Amino acid sequence: MAVLEVKALTKIYEGKVATKALDGVSFTIDEGEFVGIMGPSGSGKTTLLNVIATIDEPTSGGVSIGGQDPHRMNREQTALFRRRELGFIFQHFNLLDTLTAEENIVLPLTLDGVPVPVMKARALEMARRLGIEGVLPKYAYELSGGQMQRTAIARAMIHEPSLILADEPTGNLDSKASRDVMEAFAAMNESHRATIMMVTHDALAASFCHRVIFIKDGKLYNEIYRGDNRQTF
Ligand code: ADP
Ligand code: ADP
Repeated sequence: MAVLEVKALTKIYEGKVATKALDGVSFTIDEGEFVGIMGPSGSGKTTLLNVIATIDEPTSGGVSIGGQDPHRMNREQTALFRRRELGFIFQHFNLLDTLTAEENIVLPLTLDGVPVPVMKARALEMARRLGIEGVLPKYAYELSGGQMQRTAIARAMIHEPSLILADEPTGNLDSKASRDVMEAFAAMNESHRATIMMVTHDALAASFCHRVIFIKDGKLYNEIYRGDNRQTF
């Protein structure tokens, strides 16, 4: 079943010179898929993420997530939709430094009024799977980069969103931490059937994806399905 459908998506930024950042992009991502988006700088990757995340409006074409079009909702519905149905992971982690790792992870559930013991149990279960149970009581600023990003993954997934959007999640990490983080993504993809769309420049990160979509000049120009050999990309 398709979780994400991107249909003839076009985005033109008006200005002195209009820029066609996306030019008729179409693809679907099925439930449980782990898809990478690659392309040179300026190819439209950020714009694609922003339109899917409903941060930016399409000029034409559209997006459907779990059968719903977030661009056809009012502001309040969109905010709720993003909070419930999407999980975000960023290059700079975006954790709250004044909270512990555990408090960061349960944040999305706090907003929904889930009882504390239930939240703690869920956080522990995810932390174990991600290999960060030992750092749950630590403040976010005390963690290594790889631990921060795995904490961010737990936070993005704890409310079981339909779609995880990751923007250069290994962009700030050395290769050892990148590998740990990508193994964490793969584990969550397998155990929770999390559907993940990840923008990346990093060939190592892309090698963990089932499928990589390449964009260039705002157009989809290639798509590679992973064979048995992870070094294909
Ligand atoms: P990427 O993430 O692949 O580097 P972007 O989506 O950021 O690409 O940019 C695609 C094109 O759209 C580029 O030419 C960029 O300069 C332009 N662009 C992106 N955002 C804006 C904006 N807010 N206003 C005008 N042009 C933009
Ligand atoms: P990335 O490193 O993810 O490719 P960019 O450096 O392309 O990101 O863009 C960072 C932010 O700046 C994005 O939110 C994008 O929309 C905005 N942006 C990119 N190009 C332009 C532009 N020419 N004019 C205005 N905003 C832009």
